[in-house]
Amino acid sequence: MYDCIVCGSGFAGSVSANILASKYDKKVLIIEKRGHIGGNCFDCIDENGILIHKYGPHLFHTSNKKVWEYLSRFTQWDKYEHKVLCSIDGQNVPIPFNLNTIEQIFEPQKAKKLQEKLLESYELNSKVPILELKKSDDVDLQFLADFIYEKVFVNYTAKQWGMKPSELDSAVTARVPVFVGRDNRYFNDEYQAVPKDGYTKLFENLLNHPNIKVVLNTDFKDMVTIRDNKFYLNGKKFKGKVIYTGMIDELFDYKFGELPYRSVDMRFESIDKEFFQAGATINYPNEHNFTRITEFKHIHPIKSDKTTILKEYPQNYVKGENTAYYPIFTDDNQKRYNQYVEYSRKFDDLVLIGRLAEYKYYDMDDVVERVLDIAKEVEL
Ligand SMILES: Cc1cc2nc3c(=O)[nH]c(=O)nc-3n(C[C@H](O)[C@H](O)[C@H](O)COP(=O)(O)OP(=O)(O)OC[C@H]3O[C@@H](n4cnc5c(N)ncnc54)[C@H](O)[C@@H]3O)c2cc1C
Repeated sequence: MYDCIVCGSGFAGSVSANILASKYDKKVLIIEKRGHIGGNCFDCIDENGILIHKYGPHLFHTSNKKVWEYLSRFTQWDKYEHKVLCSIDGQNVPIPFNLNTIEQIFEPQKAKKLQEKLLESYELNSKVPILELKKSDDVDLQFLADFIYEKVFVNYTAKQWGMKPSELDSAVTARVPVFVGRDNRYFNDEYQAVPKDGYTKLFENLLNHPNIKVVLNTDFKDMVTIRDNKFYLNGKKFKGKVIYTGMIDELFDYKFGELPYRSVDMRFESIDKEFFQAGATINYPNEHNFTRITEFKHIHPIKSDKTTILKEYPQNYVKGENTAYYPIFTDDNQKRYNQYVEYSRKFDDLVLIGRLAEYKYYDMDDVVERVLDIAKEVEL
């Protein structure tokens, strides 16, 4: 009855299903364990009439025209350029740390000197990873690096990951740049927007095809079993492709051990005033147990006397208790992941895609790009 099974209805699963159904005329069964489609990008209107992102703020940004054009077939967009403020010593300053931030924090002479040194050493509008700046020979740049490291980076990273920066892969620390310019935007990509009617609507449009059936509230393993490296759907041998976007260790019953993740306790609060804070997201590296507060009205403007904020409290991922959000990049974890990938090669028709199946930090556009590329490679 079905040509393909897709586990999960996030971007990885939904874009795969859409291509299979519309381009290759395949009958697709999507099995989704949550009660809704969209994976971690799911959004909904809350009791204040505000569009909230249930699994944390999702801001779409890409420089990939192909991805932008593909998704634009399923949604219209509201232009939105994300800006993040960071609470340092009682004032809110723009991050990534940039030339404007320097002016706001240091007295004028000191600020001028630091700006000049940065511009002498690096190109205008370049991004310098914080750990690279720390290695500079110049005492003023070292001072700046240490300041940013202490005030913006180290405590935030410790809270976010539950470990010291040195214990993490440099790919994580490289994500924290100093921006040698005056652009206060958090991302510099060409396309920056949020779906006009929300992400969930975008997913509904992706999946609105007579060849696609979505089963919600059902774990993949409730319908699919594995014997002798073959898949069985409801007890019958399944001959088509299986696109798996869930956790790879779970798929193979943790035979090489668990892959660790970081989770977040997302706590929403309704506030009885029109606005709570000056911008969409304010980071709190040094105060509180939460990392940041997001106020959704700044992302999806609406007139209302109330507002909704989200505080994010990072925590360890515990199987069965909370949600796996961020893969934790260490050499050991990567080795374990590679063992799973090696094992997965025994399965002819299995395709592993997405943040959980590939144990990678993918942004939304990365996942869509990955599916579009894989679709060509394996004739999804
Ligand atoms: C807090 C947070 C903020 C983020 N912010 C941004 C941002 O601003 N911009 C950006 O570009 N990206 C952002 N991302 C990344 C973005 O969420 C991912 O790129 C995207 O969700 C990946 O899609 P996916 O399909 O791989 O995974 P997911 O969205 O996680 O989808 C996987 C789906 O599979 C289902 N599933 C898993 N296992 C099973 C099973 N056994 N049976 C049935 N169903 C199963 C899950 O329920 C889920 O619906 C953020 C991520 C997080 C965690």
